[in-house]
Amino acid sequence: MRNSFVRFVFAGALLAASLVAQAQPFDGCPSPAIGAAFDDFGKTGRMQPALGRWLGDADAQRIAPWKAFDDAYFVGACWVSAWLLPTPQGHFLIDTLHEPHTAELLANVRKAGFDPQDIRYVFITHGHFDHAGGAARLKRELKNARFVMTETGWAEAIASANAMAGKPGAWEMIPRDIVAKDGDSWTLGGRTVTLLETPGHTLGTASYLYDVHDGARAYRAVTVGGLGLSAIQNARQVELYIDSVERLDRLAASATRPVEVHLTTHPFATGLMEQRSVLAQRKSGDAHPLVDAAGLHKQLEALESGAKERLVIEQAKDKK
Ligand SMILES: [Zn+2]
Repeated sequence: MRNSFVRFVFAGALLAASLVAQAQPFDGCPSPAIGAAFDDFGKTGRMQPALGRWLGDADAQRIAPWKAFDDAYFVGACWVSAWLLPTPQGHFLIDTLHEPHTAELLANVRKAGFDPQDIRYVFITHGHFDHAGGAARLKRELKNARFVMTETGWAEAIASANAMAGKPGAWEMIPRDIVAKDGDSWTLGGRTVTLLETPGHTLGTASYLYDVHDGARAYRAVTVGGLGLSAIQNARQVELYIDSVERLDRLAASATRPVEVHLTTHPFATGLMEQRSVLAQRKSGDAHPLVDAAGLHKQLEALESGAKERLVIEQAKDKK
């Protein structure tokens, strides 16, 4: 009797565990399905519980690091990016992920063959927890790194962390380190990263410009700092968003050094993991799938048209 009861409980536990395993909303890291789930969240303002659990699940979010270019490695998680730009004189890192994923970021840097202690600059795109939430761990662990944000970006990150104190999802932000402004740049090992202030997604959002290499070819690349309209407060912010997107689009269309590569902050936003599969199958002589000026222009146009729709809504609210 007792034994069969134990077996019954054990079988129940196994069944529950298998149901939990099946409850993951995505199989792997598919951009279209993840993008659709976020669209739904954006429209309804309510996050599906399965999506919320998945975002915080270190196992579900784990992605092996991969080389996007000779000198650009994805070291992030399924839903949010971190990019390592190595040089012989120390490395740049863009964005910090958030807990519980930042330890994985450091493991990914090591797996890619680099020493995290060689990271000299950590560039943070903006003050939301998914990009800045790992800064505290990185500051404790990376002894040689400085952290870069815009003045408004620092203020937003610190205010955002303070607002969450004591609540579920609380996170810690580091004090201001390097306070950067538009056009500031940092060079290591002959490689330069330039910060652009691109207010819109938040008012303190920064985008970063740098070169990446594919064999003998160098390409101008950008990490656009903020993509969504999730934190819009008013029409003025949407106007700034549109100005920033138009500015990035002009850089993409530059006659002299067009930006042709977008190393995104959220993989699902640009189909990054699918491009990674194409890259893995690439044969010698094939074009690099991430060199895609037309694709970047299309992404920026889509951001702009979404923002223009939102502007009408915000202007109507402002009139009330
Ligand atoms: Zn954000």
